[in-house]
Amino acid sequence: MTSQSETIFDKVLRREIPAHIVYEDDFILAFRDIHPQAPVHVLVIPKKKVARFSDLEGSSVQDVGEFFKGVSRVAKELHLDGPGYRIVVNNGRDGQQTVEYLHAHILGGRGLTWPPG
Ligand code: AMP
Repeated sequence: MTSQSETIFDKVLRREIPAHIVYEDDFILAFRDIHPQAPVHVLVIPKKKVARFSDLEGSSVQDVGEFFKGVSRVAKELHLDGPGYRIVVNNGRDGQQTVEYLHAHILGGRGLTWPPG
């Protein structure tokens, strides 16, 4: 398990720094990425903190399920279901994870290329 040091997303969750929040419920918080890589670029974090995707093995099935159901719900709220979208979860150094608080990127609003870099 990775360490649970304080991150910028802990501060977003506690409303200590401003963020453009687009959705919130009991399980997740969703806010716009400050450096958008697509016309729609939203980050979704679980309120129950997990540092990395690779730490999800230690989470309950219910917590994992609520997170992924939440990501799906946010994409729907953003009206991306029709045209489609991409979910990205960067994990660790080689995955280019820069914030050690699990987050799913929702990218949409344009045709995305494949493969990613
Ligand atoms: P990752 O590289 O997967 O860890 O993604 C971290 C993302 O967080 C990057 O896309 C950043 O642009 C974004 N980011 C960093 N700080 C903030 C912030 N204060 N509010 C919103 N997005 C942020």
